Amino acid sequence: MAQTTTQTVEQTLSIIKPDAVGQNMIGNIIEYFEREGLSVVATKMLHLTAAQGKEFYAVHKERPFFQELVDFITSGPVLIMVLEGENAIARNREIMGATDPQKAAPGTIRADFATSIDRNAVHGSDNKENAKAEISYFFKPNEIFSRA
Ligand code: ADP
Ligand code: MG
Repeated sequence: MAQTTTQTVEQTLSIIKPDAVGQNMIGNIIEYFEREGLSVVATKMLHLTAAQGKEFYAVHKERPFFQELVDFITSGPVLIMVLEGENAIARNREIMGATDPQKAAPGTIRADFATSIDRNAVHGSDNKENAKAEISYFFKPNEIFSRA
């Protein structure tokens, strides 16, 4: 019987945060995703309003740093992307590295570009359900160009 391999092509939301955009690191960061086999299938630059910041980070509204989080994500333009590839959700999280750059593995985006836990260069969806919700928060279906 022929061997079959199961490929789970997923899409996930990635945001290059205001710190990394401000440091002119957009191209450098996208390179980390592309060289690991993830493809950018949608993108837009936005400067989020306070209302959008609060809505996007609503899952964190009880956390003590919620206001700082909203203030930071709205402090400048962000590059919002849909990344696509095999196991894209988990792969993106690996490429990003741990939330706290001090704990992020060498060669990850956060190890290489983040300056602190709150200025940590990138956002990435953490599971399938959130990926779907976050993608649809920013993109209409006809703004996403799957290459799967
Ligand atoms: P991640 O971005 O790795 O998924 P979380 O979802 O736990 O991390 O947190 C969302 C964001 O909130 C983080 O990326 C970071 O910017 C900020 N954050 C998380 N923990 C802290 C903390 N202890 N102090 C300040 N900011 C934090
Ligand atoms: Mg998270």
